[in-house]
Amino acid sequence: MSIDHKNNQKTIVQVAIDVPINKLFDYFWDASELGQFPERGRLVVVPFGKKDVVGIVINVSEQSAYELDKLKKVIGIAPNNSLSEDLISMGEFASTYYQRSIGEVLVSSIPVAWRKSDKWATLEKPKRQSKQKAHEDATELRAIELNNEQKEIVETLSAASSEKKFQTYLLQGITGSGKTLTYLNWLARVLVDPTDQVLIMVPEINLTPQLEQSVREAFPEKTLAVLHSGLTERTRADAWMAANTGKAQIILGTRMSIMASIPNLKAIVVDEEHDLSYKQQEGVRYSARDLAIWRAKKNEIIVLLVSATPSLESWHAAVEGKYKRLTLSERGSKEASQPIIEILDLKEERRAGKKINNGISDSLIEAIHATLKKGLQTLIFINRRGYSPVLSCEACGWLSDCAKCSAHMVLHKLPRGGSNLCCHHCGLIKYIPRSCPDCGNSDLLPIGQGTQKIEQYLAEVFSTAKILRIDADSTRTKGSAEELFGAVHDGQVDIVVGTQMITKGHDYQSVGLVGVIDADASLFSQDYRASERLFAQLMQVAGRAGRSGRSVQSKVIIQTRYPTAAPYKYLKNNDVDGFLVETCEERKVVGLPPFSYQALIHAEHRTLGEAIGMLKDAAAVVKNQGKHGYSWPESVSMSDVVPKAMVRIAGKERAQVLIESPTRQDLQAALEIMQLVLIDQNTKRKGVGWYIERDPIQI
Ligand code: ADP
Ligand code: ZN
Ligand code: ZN
Repeated sequence: MSIDHKNNQKTIVQVAIDVPINKLFDYFWDASELGQFPERGRLVVVPFGKKDVVGIVINVSEQSAYELDKLKKVIGIAPNNSLSEDLISMGEFASTYYQRSIGEVLVSSIPVAWRKSDKWATLEKPKRQSKQKAHEDATELRAIELNNEQKEIVETLSAASSEKKFQTYLLQGITGSGKTLTYLNWLARVLVDPTDQVLIMVPEINLTPQLEQSVREAFPEKTLAVLHSGLTERTRADAWMAANTGKAQIILGTRMSIMASIPNLKAIVVDEEHDLSYKQQEGVRYSARDLAIWRAKKNEIIVLLVSATPSLESWHAAVEGKYKRLTLSERGSKEASQPIIEILDLKEERRAGKKINNGISDSLIEAIHATLKKGLQTLIFINRRGYSPVLSCEACGWLSDCAKCSAHMVLHKLPRGGSNLCCHHCGLIKYIPRSCPDCGNSDLLPIGQGTQKIEQYLAEVFSTAKILRIDADSTRTKGSAEELFGAVHDGQVDIVVGTQMITKGHDYQSVGLVGVIDADASLFSQDYRASERLFAQLMQVAGRAGRSGRSVQSKVIIQTRYPTAAPYKYLKNNDVDGFLVETCEERKVVGLPPFSYQALIHAEHRTLGEAIGMLKDAAAVVKNQGKHGYSWPESVSMSDVVPKAMVRIAGKERAQVLIESPTRQDLQAALEIMQLVLIDQNTKRKGVGWYIERDPIQI
């Protein structure tokens, strides 16, 4: 390469660095030293403060607003190609939209190993990958013939893809209707050239190794890059690189994969699009689903959102015609059938003289008996891990409260015997007190039940059955979740007791009964999305039953004290749209999303007064806008500053204020003002931590 020495001294690059300062940093690019010209999207190492850090070149220019002789030089360039242009543009958009610096958005999403320049040399040559299993099995692949509905959808999507235009599609289909099979068939048609790439996003890969297997089997000839947080640094770095170079044609990953560089992206699938895990809940609080739509638009490609229970936002957009809607209405496999759903009214049960032990009604026990007799499996779903949610003193009313959080400490039985108290919010662990710390009474009583207690109770009732508990505690060690799920799939287990971990996309073959205990808790949440979440979760767990001919007369029993509550009512009739119509009406009346856009401002401090004080002062400045020279858009409203529903976590008191507007643009303008005001207020109250969250999913 011949490089003009005089000219190149003038080249300046603006680099994004992972710091919370909303600007780019200027550096000289000495092409003769670096051996190449600068390019947008290059990963570089630059001196920053006292350290050398990795950043991304965002702009290349001839000028700098800074004094040239003070500028430092780019020291090195990563041994890979530039990040894809669509990713950089998406980063720029996300930086504005989520109000974080572009470095926080883009640099922080790069695998750790690539963020360490001293590792670059070893990363340059990807490790030899262990041979993909599917290669060997490929010949045994049974090709499944699509049914007519499925075929039609594949045709529609393929035709749309070939138009090379942007469009969001929503594929809504009951669990087991072959949504996965359908989109894999479509993607096979999209991948025409050997350089074409597709992105498949799923909520949690660890829990669904079956999906990875299906994808491998569907594309035995193609390279797959898998991206999720459970990988070793090196494996993730290599997968990221394989996407970036274009070697991997299929990128399968969790929400983080939306931040992967994919230069030839031709289609995106967001499976289980309603799942909360698409929302990052720390750092840059982005929605991977929303960014997927943005990215598809930028690339003029099709993005397919997939769900049995779409989020109200997506469903509403489809009803309005903004998204195109596709439906699968039958279970894909002929032998499979819809389970019968029974809403078991616990009040009725009592009246009928049935007993309820440890939160499980006798009717459910009878149903488990019947299922065992048929040689089928039972899933018991309870969304609380541990033995009991709280320990109490009957004499004085003492409860095992966490010293640092506004929450009870949960009683856990330990694997090696004994028990302790554990806070699920801050992780604090304590011994069980010998006697009540307040009154000295020695009879402390566990109240309510979690997975451990249910497991114990069922083991007493069904002494010869094989019972397995699957929750965050029983799957703590690496690979143990896979092992446990493997045992379920292999039929080594009769009864599974588990948390939401068991509800996700598992394609169980012989589940004859699903029992749900303790679902009512979510009915009374302050969060307006709680019932939507409960409905989705129940549909999901119900969908685990009757997935093959082996479990043809499957049943779902949901215990409740409120049988007429909307989620149960619609679940019983398998009426997803009915539920969404009703929920949508309710939201419309009060102007909640999707009929408005929201942002939350969070503040936290040792004392609630400071946290609230800062938000109140900020609100006052905004309300007195004229005086301060801000012009707050009229359509934007601000709620009162309130303590959060869970006010204390890990010793921090937390407050929030909700900002709403019918338009995204106005909300954006308001948040930009708010950001400035908050930065200013924070200088007066230095100890207060704060952040702005766009499109919050939990209020
Ligand atoms: P979903 O993603 O909608 O839950 P999957 O794609 O996982 O559904 O399919 C569920 C099950 O039904 C799988 O075991 C799949 O192989 C089977 N299946 C789907 N479509 C068909 C079909 N047309 N013929 C036979 N089996 C099918
Ligand atoms: Zn007491
Ligand atoms: Zn705690």
